[in-house]
Amino acid sequence: MFVDSHCHLSFPELAERIESIRDEMASAGVLKALCICTTLEEFDTVHGLAQRYDNFWCSAGVHPDNEGVREPEIDDLLALAARPRVVAIGETGLDYYRLGARSVGDMARQRNRFRVHVRAACTTGLPLVIHTRSASADTLAILREEGAERCGGVFHCFTETLEVARAALDLGFYVSFSGILTFRNATELQEVARFVPLDRCLIETDSPYRLPCRFAARPIRRRWCPTWPPSWQNSRNCRSRRWRRQRAPTSKHCSRPPVILEKTCPDL
Ligand SMILES: [Zn+2]
Ligand SMILES: [Zn+2]
Repeated sequence: MFVDSHCHLSFPELAERIESIRDEMASAGVLKALCICTTLEEFDTVHGLAQRYDNFWCSAGVHPDNEGVREPEIDDLLALAARPRVVAIGETGLDYYRLGARSVGDMARQRNRFRVHVRAACTTGLPLVIHTRSASADTLAILREEGAERCGGVFHCFTETLEVARAALDLGFYVSFSGILTFRNATELQEVARFVPLDRCLIETDSPYRLPCRFAARPIRRRWCPTWPPSWQNSRNCRSRRWRRQRAPTSKHCSRPPVILEKTCPDL
């Protein structure tokens, strides 16, 4: 069984054909999924999926890159977090990839928004879903300053360095890999995946954004199929003494629900 720890199913083109997507998920062995919220305006749609289907859960949060949307106050997030089947805060974090004419200093709005999410997560005890792009130093600094080890969470769609992965693990976070891991030129990321202990790894589609390489040219309906670099399971070589003891048997790395869901969903 696979659990998709991060997917976006509220887009109209996906929502229209949700039943067939769910059938294909099931036939691919994807039996549970966390539907991710990226704006307060979108929450009701995402939450509706989690309420309608007993193998879907959802998050509450505003993506760092979303502008022109309602800015979340901590009370907004606390209220949404109290709704049934909301199991995480996010996705949140920092994204300096598209600065345009702006500087990193101009991104205070993102940093403030991120702190609001971290505080909401620490208050509720729900895990954070972290999006970080070209901003890992500030992301880690804010998590440390806000005491995010109290809530934990996951660095989703991880594409950062081994040092960032180590820092995330040290904060008690999980690391989630998407289809990017399967690309031939993702050798550095595959090294990171070998380093991260199996019981700290999650997997995700980030649907509809991230396709595993062998499906990259296929239609959207194939985007649920899980796939892994064939060498990954057998060639893992965890070099961190601190984490070595936490490695799980490699043959079972995809057979359990992610801990991020287990933490808040006793029925899983
Ligand atoms: Zn993201
Ligand atoms: Zn996402």
